[in-house]
Amino acid sequence: MTDRQWAKLEDIPQSKLTPMLRQYIEAKAQSGDSLLFFRMGDFFELFFEDAIDAAELIGLTLTSRDGAGKENPIPMAGVPARSVDGYVARAIKAGRTVALCDQVEDPKDAKGIVKRELVRTVTPGTVLEPDLLEERANNYLGALLCQNGLAGLALVDVTTGEFLTAQIHALPEQALADELTRTSPVEVLVSDGIESRTLERFQERFDGIAFTLRPDHEFDPGHCAELLKGQFDIATLKGLGLEDAAQALACAGAALSYIQETQRDAVPHLRMPRRYSPSGFVVLDGNTQRNLELVESLLDKRRKGTLLDVLDRTHTHMGARKVRQWILHPLLDVEEIWARLDAVEALHDNGESRLTLREILKPIADLERLLGRITSKSGNARDVKALGVSLAQAPRLKSALAPFQAPLLTELRDGIDSLDDVCSWIESGIQDRPPVTLMEGNVIHDGYDEELDRLRTLVTGGRDWIASLQREESERTGIPKLKVGYNKVFGYYIEISKVNSHLAPPEYERKQTLVNAERYITPALKEREVEIVDAEERMQKREYDLFVALRERVAAEAKRVHQTANAIATVDVILSFAEVAVTQNYIKPSIDGGDELRIRDGRHPVVEHLMKAGEFVPNDILLDPLDASLVIVTGPNMAGKSTYLRQVALIALMAQIGCFVPAAEARIGVVDRIFTRVGASDNLARGESTFMVEMIETANILNTATSRSLIVLDEIGRGTSTFDGISIAWSVAEHIHNNLGAKTLFATHYHELSELGNQLERGKNVNVSVREWSGKVVFLYRIAEGGADHSYGIQVAKLAGLPNEVIRRAHEILDHLESGNTAALGIPEQMYLFGPRQPAKDSAVEKELRGIDPDALTPKEAHEFIYRLKKLLDDASES
Ligand code: ADP
Ligand code: MG
Repeated sequence: MTDRQWAKLEDIPQSKLTPMLRQYIEAKAQSGDSLLFFRMGDFFELFFEDAIDAAELIGLTLTSRDGAGKENPIPMAGVPARSVDGYVARAIKAGRTVALCDQVEDPKDAKGIVKRELVRTVTPGTVLEPDLLEERANNYLGALLCQNGLAGLALVDVTTGEFLTAQIHALPEQALADELTRTSPVEVLVSDGIESRTLERFQERFDGIAFTLRPDHEFDPGHCAELLKGQFDIATLKGLGLEDAAQALACAGAALSYIQETQRDAVPHLRMPRRYSPSGFVVLDGNTQRNLELVESLLDKRRKGTLLDVLDRTHTHMGARKVRQWILHPLLDVEEIWARLDAVEALHDNGESRLTLREILKPIADLERLLGRITSKSGNARDVKALGVSLAQAPRLKSALAPFQAPLLTELRDGIDSLDDVCSWIESGIQDRPPVTLMEGNVIHDGYDEELDRLRTLVTGGRDWIASLQREESERTGIPKLKVGYNKVFGYYIEISKVNSHLAPPEYERKQTLVNAERYITPALKEREVEIVDAEERMQKREYDLFVALRERVAAEAKRVHQTANAIATVDVILSFAEVAVTQNYIKPSIDGGDELRIRDGRHPVVEHLMKAGEFVPNDILLDPLDASLVIVTGPNMAGKSTYLRQVALIALMAQIGCFVPAAEARIGVVDRIFTRVGASDNLARGESTFMVEMIETANILNTATSRSLIVLDEIGRGTSTFDGISIAWSVAEHIHNNLGAKTLFATHYHELSELGNQLERGKNVNVSVREWSGKVVFLYRIAEGGADHSYGIQVAKLAGLPNEVIRRAHEILDHLESGNTAALGIPEQMYLFGPRQPAKDSAVEKELRGIDPDALTPKEAHEFIYRLKKLLDDASES
């Protein structure tokens, strides 16, 4: 199509603008960069650049329409209005936003051109289309503002009405980044006053988030306060915890005005903003969330192989979203944790109730998202019916919870509003299997509305009259094959075959001639027809109005529905934890405010889950700040070190979300932060193979951990030479031990490091035992006291299938090295591998490294530093 000259909107002279084009231009002016979907009859059409873009992005066929003369046609692409959702979804996935301009009056009533208006803008954070939504996760729209050292954050899930705000210190930026990773909004609003450097950094760091620039005045606290008061009909912001949090307030306001702007007059019900404190939960930085594979696997970012996958046995999507939230927000409050644990225990111990609850929860639909569609006026009769049917389960849920004494369960039971009134409106109003479309009838029950009943009788009466007409006329005229039919053009007619047409009575008026038949109308038939069509139209309209009124009535009860939905979701999660505990044989942990972490026969919940029953070897741990706060785990590759470390972190986390744990016994003093770091070469999956990244992460731990934190360091220092690695690992461990006192597990395949465990006062060595058996290693996965005596590297290499000569030679070299007989290998003194290093022999790269303070580097500087090192290295190998 390159040889074709497409018309451009701005090139069309005013005089040539049709009324439709004028309307289009107006809509376009309001829709910014969005692809404008412009309703024309049964289609949504895109024009000009939008059409060309859409053709490429979402695979539409590009056609054209005459505009400014034949030689310059207007590019056009269209999608059927019925299936517009799917195309909108594709456009959003392709990174564009969409503006929908619809006809807002019935073309029949239009004087002149049909009125059209922008009805909605669809962006990643404001989609309501089920096609685009992950059912078991929230779809958050975020707003972010860093100002005066503070960062405000707002998160709104438009599909469920959830509205959260938070305010934290802007520095270190890490805390903010961690919170964004934890909540993973799909779109984040920022002020257009943001520094471009900052924005670029955000964009680089969060490549999955769409950052949307908004005018700076939308973040004005005064303006935002008024907006929020208006939306939630409140006189003061005190109850929202926003009156002294300008940045959070600004974000809440900016998010709200964006939602109002994109949703126009169909803003879904939003709950009052709830301010939360990220520090009210265990701090889990982004790396820890990833390394522990909480909700997403490291390798392929999927759900399989994650803790979520093991713990989520919920029956409702609301429950599924809540489990996920709980996993990412472990609690700090001992009482609150116990409340959950006691509730889980109550269900754990009562198999019959679990069965009953399962049956009650299964048929419950996604109340939150149904309500989102209902309150945003896009819900159809099926949505409303599904809501009614689901709510009808609420009284059963209440009574199923009645026998329990656990405070959380009684609280939930009392929190369930059984909404009998709403249920009965829906029950009496909407038919059992309503259609998806609202204009085809069969939505409202007979007997619900007198007027509708009357119209229905009229219509059926008319149809009956016509049905009986065929028999009557056939008898009267003596034409056996006389038929009464209907088509769109002529309406009702009487049809007589050509052979019999001479028998047609004189009052029959011929309307149409077919090959084999003639079609007639009669005055009586026409009169009835007008009556029927008129009644049908009124019936449709009446039914539609009744439905809309009912939907609004339900929407007005949104708050109560939300409350019940939330209680149902919580019961679902607790039941899920109880089910997993029973099937996976978990026990109730004991939580306290102390510092000890003691696990007997702990297992890794995910690794165990993927193995046959009984195959996983359980292990103990004791981390105790007075006696053993730093445990060094040595053992060869593949021995089970990483698994052991993670299982300890996961068990602590599980306990603090109120879940039973895979162990025989667990006592856990609440931890305030969990850190996990994995040595560079173990982290290849994220493309972060650089030693520098590893060091930056380590620096972050050393700067933020407290004595109540749990630190898991897996092979740190591996990304550099043996000596550097050991030295760094050593000093890091020493620093944690001497200055932080955090509970720490440190895994390394450098068996030399077990020396450290001996030297430090509260250090302790353990090793994952292996046995050598006729020259091969056998992994036992058993943690034993003491350090590993050697690395078994060669044995592992043999297992991996290295040729026998290579293995034999490696043994030989190792013998020489260990006996100090380097001469036998022809190694000059200064290249000694295991002896003391000569300080004078620093290479250029090493010199650079020595001179650097990792803590003082910004990520960008760090990155540049790596380039410099690489260049030095390349230069060195060339010379
Ligand atoms: P390391 O970190 O020491 O190299 P990993 O922890 O990665 O070893 O474990 C290697 C493999 O050993 C795991 O993928 C798992 O299949 C198995 N494994 C680890 N721990 C156990 C255990 N306690 N019981 C049974 N198998 C285990
Ligand atoms: Mg490992």
